[in-house]
Amino acid sequence: MDIIIKLAYLLASILFIIGIKRMNKPATARNGNSISAIGMLIAIVATMVQLNVMTLPEILICIVIGSAIGFYVAKKVEMTQMPEMVALFNGFGGLASVGVGLSEYWRESYENTQDIHTVTLVSILLSILIGGVTFTGSYVAFGKLSGRINGNAIVFKGQHMLNLLLLVVGIAGAAMVMYNQGWVTGMYILLFISLLLGVLVVIPIGGADMPVVISLLNSYSGMAACATGFVLNNYMLIVAGALVGSSGIILTDIMCKGMNRSLLNVVMGGFGQTAGTVATVGGKSDLVVKEVGVEEAAMLFDSASSVVIVPGYGMAVAQAQHAVKELMEILLKKNINVRFAIHPVAGRMPGHMNVLLAESNVPYDRLLEPEQIDDDLSNTDIVYVVGANDVVNPAARHDKSSPIFGMPIINADKAKTVIVSKRSMASGYAGIENELFGYPNCLMLFGDAKATLTKVVNELKEM
Ligand code: NDP
Repeated sequence: MDIIIKLAYLLASILFIIGIKRMNKPATARNGNSISAIGMLIAIVATMVQLNVMTLPEILICIVIGSAIGFYVAKKVEMTQMPEMVALFNGFGGLASVGVGLSEYWRESYENTQDIHTVTLVSILLSILIGGVTFTGSYVAFGKLSGRINGNAIVFKGQHMLNLLLLVVGIAGAAMVMYNQGWVTGMYILLFISLLLGVLVVIPIGGADMPVVISLLNSYSGMAACATGFVLNNYMLIVAGALVGSSGIILTDIMCKGMNRSLLNVVMGGFGQTAGTVATVGGKSDLVVKEVGVEEAAMLFDSASSVVIVPGYGMAVAQAQHAVKELMEILLKKNINVRFAIHPVAGRMPGHMNVLLAESNVPYDRLLEPEQIDDDLSNTDIVYVVGANDVVNPAARHDKSSPIFGMPIINADKAKTVIVSKRSMASGYAGIENELFGYPNCLMLFGDAKATLTKVVNELKEM
């Protein structure tokens, strides 16, 4: 039986790796997800065969309760609330690792007369330390994103020194437990410090950086699960945890590069508080802009020969992806070349735009990365910016005082005409004005993206 379980774990690990690899491209991502899910099913079944702590009915009851909660939350959540949901689930992962670490410590301490094996004890300590930070850190992140607690960066003097000091005390406590395994108080100190550190590490991080932090916490939850795998001597948990830990770090790095930030800079907090930035308050701005109406916009599209669509967070809010697809179809029928420029941090989570456009069946080969389309933008008749703001802000190229300075952007302003769909002059996530809206080649099509675009498409149909 043991060899069958090991082989099942090996198969599940291979399926996880293939699944993650296939998630790399929009065209194969769904299939990758299914392959990983099959891997997870195999892993769960194999684990259930090894019933040494709980009975099968007890495990099944837990699975049903957990699945029902997960299903309800996932069904209810809006696409724009995804990062919050990921934060919530990361937190559960961290809590589970803390639970396993503590219960194994108690079990080993009370049941066994011999010392706990060093590898097991180190793994228990790591499960508690990383799991605790992940648990409270993720819940603070969830609270900030969902507006339950203040989303601004909360900073105070000596904050980083305090965090460092706590970490040192936590590690010293862990070392003392290594030295004297029966010192239960040391374990509680470590637990308390890890929970406190999670809160203190996340509160100085401002709204715009929260998704990066969530990706980082996701990585931590993987590392905690990996440590838990060593505690339980479960190969599957070790492999799956290592995969989550490493892919989370890679994703965090991609997001940091997309925003031109270093990870240290994100973790130190305070983004969006740079001096010299101008935020548009209540959707008002001093920029002089040119408005365009629905009919005029439709006429401009009708006379173009190439259009590049740049989607952003507003498309997700408006759920305008189906209207965008309709626009694409009608323009293609009129022999107009239509492509999409997808910025890596458009929206509020990596791949946000790809997911929405895939949902409305926009062909993957029309989706291009900024560098793939950049050279063509100056020959493009219309760049249509639908609900995007920061990712097309030219200030990133030249305004050193801007918090987004240096962030690679889609150079929409190079096009002959730029049409921007948004409701007002309100700023995007970074909280800064977008000078593009005042450029001579830029026209503002004010209104909810879905409503206005539907009208434009209807006009085009009649032309
Ligand atoms: P932005 O957040 O810059 O701007 C979105 C715009 O959408 C707003 O200006 C808003 O203007 C408009 N909008 C909102 N609702 C609607 C609607 N119903 N119809 C039309 N427009 C609407 O989005 P971007 O995608 O350009 O940029 C993403 C930002 O998020 C970047 O700053 C990025 O760094 C940040 N970020 C992204 C992450 C990711 O992984 N994707 C992770 C971390 C941060 P108005 O209210 O006037 O309509």
